[in-house]
Amino acid sequence: MTWKQQLANSITTPEQLAGHFDIDPEPMRAVAARYPLLITPHYFNLIEKPGDPIWRQCVPDLGELAVDDLPEDSLNEQAFAPVPTVVHRYPDRALLMVSGQCAGYCRFCTRKNRVGTRAFCFSRAKIDEGITYLSEAPEVRDVILTGGDPLLLNDDRLDDILSRLYRIPHVEMIRIGSRMPVTLPHRITPQLCRILSRFQPLYLNTHFNHPRELTIESAAACARLADAGLVLGNQTVLLNDVNDDPGVMIELCRGLLKMRVRPYYLHHLDQARGTAHFRVPVERGLEIIAGLRGQVSGLGIPQYVVDPPGGEGKVPLQPENLLGMGGILRVQTARGVVELPNRRRDVV
Ligand SMILES: *Cc1c(COP(=O)(O)O)cnc(C)c1O
Ligand code: SF4
Repeated sequence: MTWKQQLANSITTPEQLAGHFDIDPEPMRAVAARYPLLITPHYFNLIEKPGDPIWRQCVPDLGELAVDDLPEDSLNEQAFAPVPTVVHRYPDRALLMVSGQCAGYCRFCTRKNRVGTRAFCFSRAKIDEGITYLSEAPEVRDVILTGGDPLLLNDDRLDDILSRLYRIPHVEMIRIGSRMPVTLPHRITPQLCRILSRFQPLYLNTHFNHPRELTIESAAACARLADAGLVLGNQTVLLNDVNDDPGVMIELCRGLLKMRVRPYYLHHLDQARGTAHFRVPVERGLEIIAGLRGQVSGLGIPQYVVDPPGGEGKVPLQPENLLGMGGILRVQTARGVVELPNRRRDVV
């Protein structure tokens, strides 16, 4: 199947899931009506049974509708958006949102209240406005294409956007954030790699969360990207009952290194509405990072970070920044101390 055929054959309704597994689709309907559902055939085939680490990442769960007081825009991104497609929170780097959709909707997504909705859609005109903003912001050296998933755009569109960014003299490097190597490795075609190879230095951060995602197809996709000269990194989110285990994380980090992908960040879960059932206490995250030392090459140990909701920026979870744990997490950021919930909210 080509990548477009994979997308066209994706699972998008609870009824389709019930056709494969002995489950009741009824409770899932309300969740799928609130947050989009899309599972590519490739990713679907990785599910072994309901409730396993792949299932938990992609199948709607009632926990998403639990009443919580978490914000919809968990990173206060809108406060740092000079134009709708740009998030400019650090002086030297900025995000450019180019696609509002993904090849699979992660149930824990920080932007789950916006991705895949009609409102989260970036027209050509809006992307042009973003590129113009970046071309007039000489302090921006590093532009990160994100969304949604930028690789959902067609090759021609990507080529056009990358070419225009590449021509901006003060933009020294471009990054792409994409989960395609995980959920739709077929998207990483030789043709796409030929296009990408023209925009060095080009970094691509992908998003593997579990060793079972490290398939032959994904390894081949990463090899094509690396052979095209891209520098590959991985951002993992620490997720309850998915990867909150030192053994799982060791296997993931070792497997990524074998695939020429460097573990970059281990993200403490953001505070986005509908994700509280995925929270892992920071104590556990610290144990997992400690468990990697001695077991994984230093090259393969990601930095454990939290991105507080006020837009303070990412903070490494290290002793000097951790002022308190327990029921509430207290973190020292560049803009003062922030407090975050530190316990999973169990769903009734
Ligand atoms: C994470 C992030 C970046 C990139 O941060 P790095 O630490 O350089 O990878 C840039 N802008 C925003 C808004 C971010 O959230
Ligand atoms: S691929 Fe990224 S942006 Fe898309 S749903 Fe998953 S976490 Fe969110």
